[in-house]
Amino acid sequence: MDLSNKVTVIMGASSGIGAATSRLLAKDGAKLVIAARRLNRLEEIQKDLPKAEIDAYKADVTKFEDVKNVIDKTVEKYGRIDVLYNNAGIMPTAPLIEGRRDEWQNMLQINIMGVLNGIAAALPYMAKAKSGHIISTDSVAGHTIGPDGAVYSGTKFAVRAIMDGLRIEQAENNIKTTIVSPGSTGTELFNSINDKDQKKFAQDYFKNVGGLEPEQIAQAVEFAIGTKDNMSVSEVIIRPTRQS
Ligand code: NDP
Repeated sequence: MDLSNKVTVIMGASSGIGAATSRLLAKDGAKLVIAARRLNRLEEIQKDLPKAEIDAYKADVTKFEDVKNVIDKTVEKYGRIDVLYNNAGIMPTAPLIEGRRDEWQNMLQINIMGVLNGIAAALPYMAKAKSGHIISTDSVAGHTIGPDGAVYSGTKFAVRAIMDGLRIEQAENNIKTTIVSPGSTGTELFNSINDKDQKKFAQDYFKNVGGLEPEQIAQAVEFAIGTKDNMSVSEVIIRPTRQS
């Protein structure tokens, strides 16, 4: 796909779905700006794709100033931002009875505030230009609540609500919105689970349902970005075929 006219920022690009999407969009010729906390992992992507136009920034999505810096630098360089992909997320699932308040706080900050920080930084530019596309990674868990996944699902239900509200508010400004809702996908996400039973459950579940590769989610993002101006892919749910 030719995406050479798309100035695209990906937050949470250092591994898994974000890294796979970065690599795919780079091959499509997109003008890419990738960000995450692990700069070394972003630099690996740059090194692997020397011909691609990729800028990399260390950024923590919970810090608005970091997110704003990435977006502002992008607009300084290219004069616009066409696509913002809010992909950063963690999934430390555990039973509520364990009262893991620090993990809840981290999930709320990264999974929800991370998306809102992206919107706050990018939307003014897009609304002014009456053009742009905001994509956020949600989850099948944003539709149903998995075992011991109350808080994680809560964050993903919230992202879906926020993104749909964004769609409704900004339709008149010609802003596209896309909610990408993957099912079980083989990434580093399970490393964020500290509860031993939950980690085993997630790993076994991935094997049992024949989990997806992050590159398969990237294809959905690529499709949504590549659509004509008059067509907006509001949500795409991508499950392993055997995931109910
Ligand atoms: P990974 O753990 O491989 O990737 C998570 C990404 O989020 C990394 O790039 C990480 O970068 C980034 N991130 C986490 N915290 C922050 C932060 N504070 N600031 C900036 N970036 C951050 O997992 P996935 O690829 O699976 O996760 C991507 C998204 O997909 C998440 O939103 C997740 O909830 C969602 N998802 C995943 C599913 C799966 O089965 N894998 C299923 C459904 C949804 P770094 O640590 O370098 O900052």
